[in-house]
Order: sequence, then structure tokens, then C-alpha cells
Amino acid sequence: MKNMSISSRTAIVPFLFLFIVQAQGQCDRWQQRVKYTMSVDLDVKTHRFTGEATLAYTNNSPDTLREVFFHLYFNAFRPGSEMDVRSRTIADPDARVGDRIAELTPDQMGDLRTERMLQDGKPTTVVEMGTVMKVVLAKPLLPRKTTTLTYGFKGQVPIQIRRSGRDNAEGVAYSMSQWYPKLAEYDARGWHAYPYVGREYYGVWGDFDVTLKLDSAFVIAATGVLQNPTAIGHGYATGKKPLKRPDGGTLYWHFVAKDVHDFAWAADKDYVHTTEQVPDGPLLHFFRKDVAELEPAWKELPGYMVRSFQFMDKHFGKYPWPQYSFVQGGDGGMEYPMLTLITGKRRVGSLVGVSVHESVHSWYYGVLASNEGRFAWMDEGFTEYASGEVMQELFPSPQDPHAGANMGYQNLVKSGNHEPPSIHADHFKTNSAYGTTAYSFGELFVDQLATVIGDKTLHAGMLRYFATCKFKHPEPIDFERVMEKQSGLELDWYFDEWINTTRTLDYAIQSVLQVNDSLVITLERKGDQLMPVDVRITFRDGRETNHHIPLSLMRGSKPQGSEPYAFTTLAAWQWTDPRYTFSVPGSILGLERVMLDPAQKMADSDRENDAVELPEGGGGLVKP
Ligand SMILES: [Zn+2]
Repeated sequence: MKNMSISSRTAIVPFLFLFIVQAQGQCDRWQQRVKYTMSVDLDVKTHRFTGEATLAYTNNSPDTLREVFFHLYFNAFRPGSEMDVRSRTIADPDARVGDRIAELTPDQMGDLRTERMLQDGKPTTVVEMGTVMKVVLAKPLLPRKTTTLTYGFKGQVPIQIRRSGRDNAEGVAYSMSQWYPKLAEYDARGWHAYPYVGREYYGVWGDFDVTLKLDSAFVIAATGVLQNPTAIGHGYATGKKPLKRPDGGTLYWHFVAKDVHDFAWAADKDYVHTTEQVPDGPLLHFFRKDVAELEPAWKELPGYMVRSFQFMDKHFGKYPWPQYSFVQGGDGGMEYPMLTLITGKRRVGSLVGVSVHESVHSWYYGVLASNEGRFAWMDEGFTEYASGEVMQELFPSPQDPHAGANMGYQNLVKSGNHEPPSIHADHFKTNSAYGTTAYSFGELFVDQLATVIGDKTLHAGMLRYFATCKFKHPEPIDFERVMEKQSGLELDWYFDEWINTTRTLDYAIQSVLQVNDSLVITLERKGDQLMPVDVRITFRDGRETNHHIPLSLMRGSKPQGSEPYAFTTLAAWQWTDPRYTFSVPGSILGLERVMLDPAQKMADSDRENDAVELPEGGGGLVKP
């Protein structure tokens, strides 16, 4: 183990050098690095487990670290925990949790603690704080140095309450996520030792080498690639080598995962395990309970998932890992590196839908991995956006796949529970505001950007974002700068006000007048949010013209060819003006309709004033 840390220390020097040379553009900040080696023994009678761990931690920050933090997530499943109290006191409790944690008996609770925590062989001081643990180091960890922590850990798998645990509603024995002492992330904003209250995660990039000792009747699905399939079988390919299981009732499953920020697994005695290869992509694994009613939908799933991965590779960036597993478990759908836990009793449409969403997380949660505490919308929202595009490919529909997100956002605004998306995910006052903000607002934020920079520019920008920021924990500023570079436009106003405020958007057609041979159209900004405006004019003879009014703050406009339709670009709308007037040749008698936002992508809170239909025979002044 010592040798390992020395070699990783020497390897880091050329890496850092490269890093500094290439330090331009976005996502060029330093990243911490971890290497876990864990061996774990789970007793399926008591549901208790013990582990031994060696953790090599490399400090790539410019700071000297005197302490490090771990997450002990299983301690959330104890009466009185932050998750328990929050779940019972929030205005709109999550029905999956409610007061279930408060009612747990000692043998049903979760438990996780470490013991014998040594740093390079010297004792450390451990301070437990519920779901977080502070380790005061024996010796400060200097910049660009690696230190090795060795420790034992012990835990009890709780009955399944939220995401992880034993005996889920569909009878899956073990859904093992957030199960081991997990090093917290340290970045340019400092430590992120978030307690486990309900929301999602942020982890350190690294490599996992995990050996799981378990009763041989169980089949395991895990993050990573199984290293010893010939000693395991259970549906794992052994190539040309014969299966050679050891004697006795125990198997040692050895998994390795590289360049990931978490490790999850699941185990059950009744898993049916099948695989499907994505051409020029990962091997997909499928694990479901051996129950007849599941078979029809799960039989159709692999074909859809191959197409989903191929679409994502082409339109959003190349999936980097060798495999991905769809695993029945958990309490709905939850993403992990190279693996998802999904409930499996679903019709095929729902099964495909949840599988697309969770596997698409591989791009935003898995590879890009924005801090989900601070920027949940960059994970869920971007995942929803890309999933919508995938679902449109798999199940083509005349409806805009992102229209639902806009509606969800509008309903949140109307509810009065709207909060700025920049709030920490656990600190929203309601579950519904968090959910709609992370999922619907995040999707809308991306989709609506098409009206600003152009549809084609947006799609090219999504590929560029992935290429630029993969494995770099991007923040909003990184996405903004990538999109600014892709479009050549200034987007500060868009990012500042949509993310940090609850201002709303409302543009309106104020009047349409006949002046000599021209139609004079006046628009009005009634809301606080700023946007460029697209206008479509439809004449009775069937002609249709599109006009784009850039916002002055953009310092330019989307180019011709960036939208699926042709348009004329008008003078920019000076942002301080509440009104904007322009004219086009034509007669009001020949005019049928003037409408704003023909693509219907803007989050305009009052659509009633976005279009005027002219009565046959026309009229003079039209005031909607
Ligand atoms: Zn999600």
C-alpha cells in the first residue's frame, strides 16, 4: 500500500504540469483525488457488515489540510437524525419517508462508524457528527501531497427507507448505496461535508477497488467491472475460461471502478442477470427479480437502452466507462456511477422512461458531476433535458418534449413557493419547490437558451460543455462560458437573473397599427426578466415572416441558420426600454396573426398577451 501511494505521488507531477499548461477556458480548477481499497463482509443473517479500508488521498489544492471529512450516510436512518426531523417537519413530506425513520427499532436502523483511523500509521482524532465525521489529521496534508488513511468500519443495513437499505418494497434484499464511509469533497469553495438530509451528492474523483464477501446464493450488481468472473459466474461472462467456483458457501466479489466519485451495489438471491452490448459502447447489464410479471417489459428494455446510449453518445458526448447496469432495487430511480437502482414493476413505457432518465444521469451526475447540493438543477435539469431528447427519439411525438417542464415551472410560480434556484438543495422550504426547480426549471433553463443563442448552437454547446468539463465538477459559470464561446454572445444577464432570483418573464404585444404602407408593431416587457424576442407574422395569403429582436446586453444575435426556420434580425432592444416598436411592410387587412415566441420555449408567465388574431376585414388599432 505504501508503494502505491508513492507511485501515485510521482505520477501526479506530469499530470499537474499538463493541467497548468492547459489551464485555459472553463473548468480548469484543480480536483482532489482519492483511491479506495475496501474489503467488506456482509452477514445476511444480521444485516451487519464490517470492512477494512485503505484510502490514498491526494491534495491537489493549494491549501494545507489539517482535517478531512467523511459522510456516514447510513446514520440518517436513526430516530432523531436530521433526515428524520426534516422528513416529519417539512410542509410537504416525502411519502416514502414521512415518519418511518422515527419508528425504526434498533435492529431496523442504519448504523455506520469507523474504527482504528490511522494516517500513515499514526493515530488521528475522529469526531462523529451524525451523518458527518471529522478526522483531525496526525500530520497536515500539504499541497500536492498524498496521504494514506487506514481504518476499519462497521455498519448495519437499515430497512429500506430512502434509496438504500434492505428488503425494498419489491423484495430486493440489499440496495447498497450511500453505504460506506465516503470522503467528502474539497474544492475551491472549501469542504462540502453536507449532512444527509434528503438531497443528493458530491464526491471526490477517484478509483475504487472493492471486494465484497457474501453468501454465494446471492447475485451482486455493482459499480465497476467484476475482476474475477470465473470464480463467480451468476451471469458474468467468463470468456473462454471455465467457471471455477471456490468450495464453501461464500464468494469474494472483486470489483474495480476507475474515475468515478461513488460506488454502489445491490444483491439478491433471485436476480435474473442478462447483458446487451452497445456497439462501440459499454456492455449493459440488467438485473431483475425472477418474477414472471416483470419479464415482458424487462425483455424490451435492452433494445431501447442500446438506442438511448447511442443517441446520447452522438448528441451529448461519449460515455467513458466499459459497462452500465440497470438494477431492480431502491425506491424509484436513483443514479450511481455505472449503475442505477430502479423499481422494476412497471409497464414498458415507464420502465424505459425511468431507465433513460437514470442512465442519462451518467453524463451529468456521472461524468460532469456538478455539486448537487449547490447546483442540483445542473444535474437533474440537464438530465431531464437530454432525456427528453432521447425519449423523442425512442417514441417520436408531435409535442415538444420540453413543454411539460415549462408548465411545471409556471405552476410553481403560481403556487407562491418559488425560490431562487441557487439555494442549497436541502434548504428549499418545500419538497415541491426543490423538485420543480431542480427538474423542471433546470430543463427549461437549457431549452429556453435555444431562443437566445439558436437551437443548433445550443446542441453544439451541449457537446462542447461535456468535452470541456468532463470529470471537472462544473459550476454555472462554466456552463455560461462554454455557451458564450459557442454563441459569441454575452449571457451574464441570463445566468444571473434566472438562477439567483425569482423574477418572472412576461412579454406582450402592446399594439399593431397601420401607418401608410406598413404595420407598426409595439411590444412591451411587463415582467422583470429579460429575454430577446422572436416574433412571427402570418398573413392571410399564407405568407409567414419571422423576426428576431436581440437584447442589447447580448452584444450580438443568433445567426441565420441557427434555427429550423429563416428569420430577419431587427435592431437590438435596449434593455432599459419597457417598449419596443418596429415596422414591416403590409396591410392590416391582409394580416392574420402576430405572435411572440413561435417555438413556445420561453417561460412567459402570461401567454394570453403573446398573440393577436385579427378578425376578417381587419381593423385599425389592435390592442390585445
Ligand atoms: Zn434524476
